[in-house]
Order: sequence, then C-alpha cells, then structure tokens
Amino acid sequence: MSSASITVAVIKGDGIGPDVTDAATAAIDAAVAALGLGAVTYREIKAGAGVFKETGRDIEPGGDERAGQADAILLGAIGLPSVRQKDGTEITPHLRLREIYQLYAGVRPVRAYPNGPQRLADPRARDIDLIILRESTEGLFYSAAIHGRAEVIGDTEVRETLRITRATTEKLHTFAFNLARKRKARRGKALVTCVDKANVFESMAFFRRIFDEVAEGFPDIETGRNYVDAQALDLIRQPWAFDILVMENMFGDIISDLGGGLVGGMGMASCAEIGDDAGLFQPAHGSAPDIAGQDKANPLAAILSGGLLLDYLAEKLDRPELADAGLLIDDAVYRGFYERLIDPMEFGGTMGTRDVAATVCRLIGEPE
Ligand code: ATP
Ligand code: MG
Repeated sequence: MSSASITVAVIKGDGIGPDVTDAATAAIDAAVAALGLGAVTYREIKAGAGVFKETGRDIEPGGDERAGQADAILLGAIGLPSVRQKDGTEITPHLRLREIYQLYAGVRPVRAYPNGPQRLADPRARDIDLIILRESTEGLFYSAAIHGRAEVIGDTEVRETLRITRATTEKLHTFAFNLARKRKARRGKALVTCVDKANVFESMAFFRRIFDEVAEGFPDIETGRNYVDAQALDLIRQPWAFDILVMENMFGDIISDLGGGLVGGMGMASCAEIGDDAGLFQPAHGSAPDIAGQDKANPLAAILSGGLLLDYLAEKLDRPELADAGLLIDDAVYRGFYERLIDPMEFGGTMGTRDVAATVCRLIGEPE
C-alpha cells in the first residue's frame, strides 16, 4: 500500500470558516488514521475578507499558485458583509480559484439522515440521497457583475449573458454519467436527470442536446429530463425519486439551496468543485459572521466536504483506499444521527461545533 504523503492546501477564511475547517481536518485525520493510511500534510494559505482588510489583497502572495500545487484544496468560508472592494463588490478569492483552475463541476450532495433534520413529514423523505451537479464556470454567472463582465449601458440598461459551451458541457455531462456509474456500483441503481429550460432558451436546448449525445455513451445509466421550474416543484413533492441532477450554473445555485433546506439547513450542505487538474472542497454555506467564534456553527457540511475530498483523492492519486476513508466519514455522520448522538445547535439542539466534531471523530475511530 502506498503511503506517499498527501498535501492539502487549507484556506480557513472568514467568520465560521476557521471553526468548521478545523472540524473537517480533524475528521480527515481520524479517517486516514483509522485505516492506517499515513498522515495528511496541511499547508495553510491566508485568504479572505480579514486578510484583505489587513493587507489590501484577498490572498497572501503566491497563494493562488500554492493552492493549485497541493493535491486538493480545503476551504472554510470567505467574505464579511462589512468588507468590500472599492467598487462595492465582495471579497471572492475562491471564485478566482474556480476560474483559474476551471473548476467546472460543482458537486452538492443532498442527503437525509435517520432522525436527522429533514423538513418533509413524508416518511419517504428519509430516503433523500441525491446529488446536484452545478456547472460552475459559465452559464449565467459567466458574464455576471462579479466577474466584471456585465454590460452596463449608462443608467438605462444592464445586460448579462448566459454562456454555454460545448467543451465544458460535454465534460460536465460526462462527469455526471461517470459519477452515476460509481453510485450504481455502490447502490445498485443510478439516474441522471438533465435540468434545464430547453423549451424557452436556445442555450438550454443546446445544453440538453449535448446531454443526449453524452448519454448515448452510457447505455447502462437511466436518464431523465426536467424543466427547472418543474424540478423545483418535484424536489418538494418527491425528492426521493431523484439521483443526480445536472444543470447550468445559476439554476444550480438556486436549486442547491433548496436542496440544503430539504435536509435541514446550510450546515448540512457539503460541496466539491472539481476541474481537470484541481479540486476544491468547502461547505456550501457562507461565513455566517453572526455566529462566528462562538462554537455554535454546525461543522457537518465542512466535515462531509472532507469526505468528498478523500473520495476525490482516491481517484486522483490512484489510491482506492482513500475512498474507504471518505466512506468512514459519511458512515460516522449517518450513525451519529441514527443513534441520536449528534444534535447540532443549528437545529435547536445542544451541541456546539467542537462537540459535534469530536463525536464524529470518535465514531470514525470506532467503525461498526
Ligand atoms: P454567502 O453570501 O456567502 O452565501 P449568506 O449571506 O448566504 O452567505 P451564510 O453565511 O451562508 O449567509 O449564512 C446565513 C445564515 O445561516 C447565517 O447567518 C447563520 O445563521 C446560518 N448558517 C450558515 N451556515 C451555518 C452553519 N454551518 N451552522 C449554523 N448556522 C449556519
Ligand atoms: Mg448564500
């Protein structure tokens, strides 16, 4: 078994970022140790609104490059409402990393846990276990103001363009079907649904056409097609019927918050941003400055993102045993809820950040 060292760049960021990142690295360490896979080396990179306020730069010098040199990037949360650039926009070094490393595949698992905080009363809601796959480099965000590409015509009109390219869309759909094959191997079934608005937008019809082309290469995987408005309805009516949902950037942004809400709240929403050569892992929530530094944040989204990181490294470094370490994290969270050992404050419970993290780490160390 190879035990070459693994290097993870860590950007703790702002607000609750440091609290939840420490929880995630503790869980990664516990999982790697439980299987005797050697140690993970963390290289911290200072970035975020706090750093910007102190230094006038949103990341330490050389930070963008060093992030890309690591095997993976782990990120807490970035941004503080009170800190802005001169033009009024927020501090977003993580969005630049997404662009530099073309992290096109945004993977956002939505999973309900037994006795967990899901919001639907229907007993079938216990079976929610789906993945929202959000294209993350183009779509309607490509030309958005945040990238400086909005077309502002005086004070009379603003235009932002929806961009869909064949190259990125082919990669995205291929990623979706490969992920489906992996899930099928684990769970016995897989369904990929293309979520779009192909009835109204030429760009979306193009997105769906490429989906159909790519699907032909994966005859073993079931497919579905749904308009995004109908998908929003279906996610409330029968979320248990879906598996992988693949969609454009803006739709993914909205639908993934809906997904987070379905299974409790943002503290459950993990996220992986994956490109051809780099992967960034972070909770989908923001920096929540209202609860920062008070041991109140739910670290599970960050901890589960650590599980996604290990799963990614298994493939990238060709070390399948790291995927088992990732599963240990998932299983520990599952058992924590099942045995009612995890009760985060986010859902009215009694357990703070460190308590939740310590419980998950203990369960990782005592696999069933
Ligand atoms: P962003 O613009 O970065 O998405 P946001 O304005 O949407 O940020 P978040 O920081 O995601 O806001 O959080 C919104 C609220 O949700 C917070 O104020 C906080 O009360 C709650 N929240 C977010 N994440 C967590 C968490 N991990 N644990 C507990 N509560 C959280
Ligand atoms: Mg938000």
